[in-house]
Amino acid sequence: MKTWIVNASSPFEFDNTLGYLVLAYYHITDLADPTAAVREHKTFFEGKDFKGRIYLAEDGINGSISAPKELICDYMRWLLTRPGFETMEFKVQEYADHTFGHLTVKTRQELVALGFKVPLDRRGPHLTPAEWRKMFEEEEDKVVIDVRNDYEWELGHFEGSESAPCKTFRDFKAYADQLKERTDPKKTKVLMCCTGGIRCEFFSSLLLEEGFEHVYQLQGGIIKYGAEEKSKHWEGKLFVFDDRLSVPISEEETPVCSQCHHCQKPADRYFNCANMDCNELFICCDDCLKSFYGCCQESCHTGTRVRPYKLTSTPFRRWYTYAKSKAELNTLKVT
Ligand SMILES: [Zn+2]
Ligand SMILES: [Zn+2]
Repeated sequence: MKTWIVNASSPFEFDNTLGYLVLAYYHITDLADPTAAVREHKTFFEGKDFKGRIYLAEDGINGSISAPKELICDYMRWLLTRPGFETMEFKVQEYADHTFGHLTVKTRQELVALGFKVPLDRRGPHLTPAEWRKMFEEEEDKVVIDVRNDYEWELGHFEGSESAPCKTFRDFKAYADQLKERTDPKKTKVLMCCTGGIRCEFFSSLLLEEGFEHVYQLQGGIIKYGAEEKSKHWEGKLFVFDDRLSVPISEEETPVCSQCHHCQKPADRYFNCANMDCNELFICCDDCLKSFYGCCQESCHTGTRVRPYKLTSTPFRRWYTYAKSKAELNTLKVT
């Protein structure tokens, strides 16, 4: 997987061979009027072939979109000229198609839906991927904390990293308390990482508040690390929240570190359960996908809304993607 890092001084040149570019980006900045920013975005996108998700909040922007190359370049140039956004950075990858089914641009109370409010005035310093790797390799007294969801960590992660429970504030607080017991918050270096960097902005702030004095964020997240340091110290694949579901972080091969949910053989593709009323996300090998008809467990196949499964890993879509009516959907079940 090739990744380009783009900012205002980049040449905007891509030697891509696939027709679409996929953009991942966020920027923390004071947005006085997120609703107006949504309106401006919608005006910019009108009649153009963009798909993806963009959230605007008083804290800034968080987005991931796909479009043909020229449009992606137009968008990056447009956003970089807006007040407050001049210093932002984009992570760009290529793909043969759109990576989203539609386009959503909306306001959010919080830039990242954590379910709890985090003050952003004091955050951990950023380390470039090279600096982060150096500390990873040379520092004895350190802990590597991954603040993505546990199912993302399961598919791929840095060697020796810990998956921090981040679903609720209480879970994270309990984890921080437990971490304080086995490390020295005044001395231990905390190397924090997430997919594109935005979650570290929030969780580094929380750890600082808990009394940890050396909390470092991986600048640009795992995506930028892959672009600059390749797959060094990384194993498995990177989970992404679009149609690709997972991507390698660089062109360098890494060992599979996850297992099939059914047979425990090495496997690294996620599927949504074919039973639409279950929809569980699980890692599955090709053989088990066939023998369980795309379901996460045997009993799921007896459900009434079971869509046909595909051997290619594709995320769950709304039922009308598979059938014209709910009655027809029931007849599609593979037996
Ligand atoms: Zn299996
Ligand atoms: Zn299921």
